[in-house]
Amino acid sequence: MKSGTFQKKINTNAKPVMVSIMHLLLGLCLIGCHQDLPQTEDQKIADETNTADWLAYGRTHSEQRFSPLTDIDTSTVVNLAVDWYLDLPNDKALVSTSLVVDGILYFTGTMNRIRAVDASNGNMIWQFDPEVAKHIGKNKKPGWTQSRGISYYKGKIFTATWEGRLIALDAKTGKQIWSVLTIDPDKKMSITGAPKAFADKVIIGNGGSEAAPNRGYVTAYDVETGQQAWRFYIVPGNPADGFENEAMEMAAKTWTGEWWKYGGGGNAWHGFTYDAELNTIYIGTGNGGPWNPKVRSENGGDNLFLSSIVALDAETGKYKWHYQTTPGDSWDYNSNMDIVLATIKIKGEDTRIIMHAPKNGFFYVINRETGKLISAQPFVETSWASHVDSVSGKPVINPNARYDSGSVYITPSPHGAHSWHAMSYNPVTRLAYIPAIHDATIFDATKTDLADWKNNPDKGGIAVSISDPDSLPRPYTGSLIAWNPVTQKQAWIVPHKELWNAGTLTTAGGLVFQGTADGQFNAYQANTGKLLWQYNTGLGISAPAITYKIKGKQYVALLVGYGGAFAGVGNKSLGWDYNRQMRRLLVFSLEGKAAVPPQPPPYFPKPLVDTTFKIDEELALKGYNLYWQCFACHGANVVAKGMAPDLRASPVSLNQAAFAMFVRDGIKADMGMPAFKDFTDEDLKALMHFIRKKANQSHQQNANEIEMGN
Ligand code: CA
Repeated sequence: MKSGTFQKKINTNAKPVMVSIMHLLLGLCLIGCHQDLPQTEDQKIADETNTADWLAYGRTHSEQRFSPLTDIDTSTVVNLAVDWYLDLPNDKALVSTSLVVDGILYFTGTMNRIRAVDASNGNMIWQFDPEVAKHIGKNKKPGWTQSRGISYYKGKIFTATWEGRLIALDAKTGKQIWSVLTIDPDKKMSITGAPKAFADKVIIGNGGSEAAPNRGYVTAYDVETGQQAWRFYIVPGNPADGFENEAMEMAAKTWTGEWWKYGGGGNAWHGFTYDAELNTIYIGTGNGGPWNPKVRSENGGDNLFLSSIVALDAETGKYKWHYQTTPGDSWDYNSNMDIVLATIKIKGEDTRIIMHAPKNGFFYVINRETGKLISAQPFVETSWASHVDSVSGKPVINPNARYDSGSVYITPSPHGAHSWHAMSYNPVTRLAYIPAIHDATIFDATKTDLADWKNNPDKGGIAVSISDPDSLPRPYTGSLIAWNPVTQKQAWIVPHKELWNAGTLTTAGGLVFQGTADGQFNAYQANTGKLLWQYNTGLGISAPAITYKIKGKQYVALLVGYGGAFAGVGNKSLGWDYNRQMRRLLVFSLEGKAAVPPQPPPYFPKPLVDTTFKIDEELALKGYNLYWQCFACHGANVVAKGMAPDLRASPVSLNQAAFAMFVRDGIKADMGMPAFKDFTDEDLKALMHFIRKKANQSHQQNANEIEMGN
């Protein structure tokens, strides 16, 4: 394996004794422990002993989300209370990890708006608005509002905007230093992920595997100038155009038919980890587009590098190795979930490993020097595959799991056994903490017209029918699972009421923090799962907590604002409303005395019923066929979950002139409501009839429930 200059420098100056003591104490620090030399930027970010800051997405380069802080521990956590808070009335979905650098807390909110505040009291220092609505191209519609985070490196904050810019800001002033376009704004690709800065570069990918036959890629830029350093495509293009590199030539051998015309995907929308010890960047790659492999690769094949971890040289972007978790993906089982680094004892030997718990439900331990599988076991029910073969490293797929001979019950569902909600790893308990999902979906491709899909590749989609099954694998759909990566066994599990819960934070104080969809912020005992402390935020939580220490005081910070894909499309409303509950940044300490204004209770909007509005069934059906462009935010069956207003209860959808201003003219574009410029008057009318029909139906349903005493 080729080692970078950075690694060589470390080896020359290493003090083996000190390294081994630090390693024993913390089980982590192989670099950044040398007091005699100034640390490089990457050593600083990799330094697990720094407790003042939260410098990177997963705290340090290892992405462990483990803090050595012990002030808040299993006995003191009962005293944890809000120290200060910041109301965020113009934010909606908040899903991002905040950063703390030199006493300043940075976070990104709705429409990629960044704020820098004093981390000890919340006083605003600067705000930056990249004005996403003004930069949106013509083909992009839903999903404008969310971002999972930002990156810090050498005095700069990096943000990637939804429509495709990567921007560098001065961390002190918030002034823009440079901006580059990393995707064509007219392409049906978008960015929700955090950029990752490392080795004087900053990398960003994109999403859009289902939107069109998109070829996913990642691009690394110079942190100082924004000049492109390298780009790595995740799936091969048309062989007639020549391959970009040997890796693409190798990948092309695993695709069949004319794949470049009909599909692709692999989009890296999340999951970048920099390995400072090996000067390697690991990319978690996306699922295939469309999901049905018969369309994108008609005679089968593993379809590299879909659903994989790909290891690239940090300097050049050159391929080093890959491990594919789901060959020939057919279920949206992408591997975009976090890639967590550690050095642990495997069969008595210190081994540099990756931990990865992707959507497909298996927990993987991989040797990060070679890319070879060490072990893989299911952490939830996995009906698509019986096990992972330890010799080939490949899953053994169950009969008809690829749904070409009729309907089949598949678990995990396309929401995944685990999504982007962060997993953490505690080197003291030696356990990983996974926000898990227990869900299933019925797949059936027998009625899919493959020829039709091939004739219209640009429409995008999945090319298979899916539906909800009658039963789910467990009585609860969400849980927090503590997993032992050495024994590959569950240490404990806490069931949750809801499916879509936030990422985790773990500390040397013996704690695991996690927020839930139903608004509780919980602290658990890390080795047993016992609930030690709970705070009701009054609104669903989707962001992971962070912790840091300023002037001797340990803080725990949490953004509160239900969000992410499932928050829009989920079946049931939890009472989180677009306009009612206050979105907030809550910061806790053991001395906290802030009085936080109470949230209004969960709210279930009453549909407006206009008896003079006569529903035309034909128009309502046409409206139903247009509504797929709206449901990601306004909710399935027109029942909103907090990401956007509930249209059944909105007076706007009763007045065609007002409706046109919102839907076609885009008067709320700055809040993320796209301008659907191609909608005709007839389309708008059809949507109104569909919304009225749904409003009347829910009104009737509510009346029936009241009558039945429910
Ligand atoms: Ca997907």
